[in-house]
Amino acid sequence: MTPTIGCYVHIPFCVRKCAYCDFNSYSGYTDGTIRRYVDALTQEIERAPVQPQSVDTIFFGGGTPTAIPATDEAALLRAVRERLPVTPNAEITTEANPGTMDVQHLEVLREAGFNRISFGVQSFDSGLLKTLDRIHSADEAKNAVKAARAAGFDNVSIDLMFGLPRQTKAQWRDTLEQAMALETEHISLYSLIVEEGTGFYTLRQKGRLPLPDEDTAAEMFQMAIDAAHAGGYEQYEISNFAKSGRACGHNVHYWRNDPYYGFGCGAVGYLDGKRIMNVKSPAKYCETIEDHGDLTYTCEALTTEETMAETMMLGLRLTGEGVDCRRYAERFGVDPRAKFPDDIAKFTKDGLLETDGDFLRLTPRGVFLANEVMMAFV
Ligand code: SF4
Repeated sequence: MTPTIGCYVHIPFCVRKCAYCDFNSYSGYTDGTIRRYVDALTQEIERAPVQPQSVDTIFFGGGTPTAIPATDEAALLRAVRERLPVTPNAEITTEANPGTMDVQHLEVLREAGFNRISFGVQSFDSGLLKTLDRIHSADEAKNAVKAARAAGFDNVSIDLMFGLPRQTKAQWRDTLEQAMALETEHISLYSLIVEEGTGFYTLRQKGRLPLPDEDTAAEMFQMAIDAAHAGGYEQYEISNFAKSGRACGHNVHYWRNDPYYGFGCGAVGYLDGKRIMNVKSPAKYCETIEDHGDLTYTCEALTTEETMAETMMLGLRLTGEGVDCRRYAERFGVDPRAKFPDDIAKFTKDGLLETDGDFLRLTPRGVFLANEVMMAFV
């Protein structure tokens, strides 16, 4: 049994919907909507069936958790702690939009027990921030990181995006330089994916979304890897970079395919081999909680074969650690090296996979062909 597990809490509100976003997030809410949602979320947490494992990571994501009052986030965290066996040194993260922050707000979060903050910066180029419909400026992003430091956060992460409309390599280099100068403990990197139903999708349909070609996007990815390495970060996951000991423990749970609780509208929980997504609309979510109804939107009961495949696929994303073959064998009764000998041999021969003791991982070249490698195990 996995010794510790994670807990995710979803806050679906955003000041404005970004042009590329297909997350379960909504703008145009009122104070009353927030109130009702926080009450419903508190009840879901209070009613949660408690697992035997301790919770060592809590992650408030969204949406924009910091779009609700800090005292509400603090109260929700208290509810989680009262209901679940949370370890004393748990990593407790909140995502934050640099455009919704001030020191006072951050101090309340820090005092409540949040010890990690992740800012959706995306770019330090003001033109690109506008293109993305972000509400913050480059200076606000830097000030938000400074304010987090002033409030006592010593574990700060920023998200950056590349492959953006009309983005040049020079702009990306400049963003990377400014990111390195901030010396946050963690950086997450996202290549733009144009999802159906977003503003960007409509623009692309109309031929009005000029994106960098694949080769340029791959060069941008390599530029980020080089800059991060030079800045003292380890690429511990395909898209994530951390200073020593600062990997995001919550996401590492996901990549190890560990169980986790999921609270809130559209949140996904993975407990007892079942992946369950809650109803997505905040109004429907509140209504269901108030009526003591069933929140399930989708429920996927995974077979052992499926879980084994997923554990390989997700574990290979961990470019630092890789798949822990011994842990895998303890969990499933078979070592991946015995289960997938031909695929492992082939990818190792091609220079895309490497074995280090009991760990199996992508090589630096394999990182660029990760999907191809991972799909072979599914
Ligand atoms: S702030 Fe994040 S969650 Fe909200 S709309 Fe923008 S990308 Fe989506």
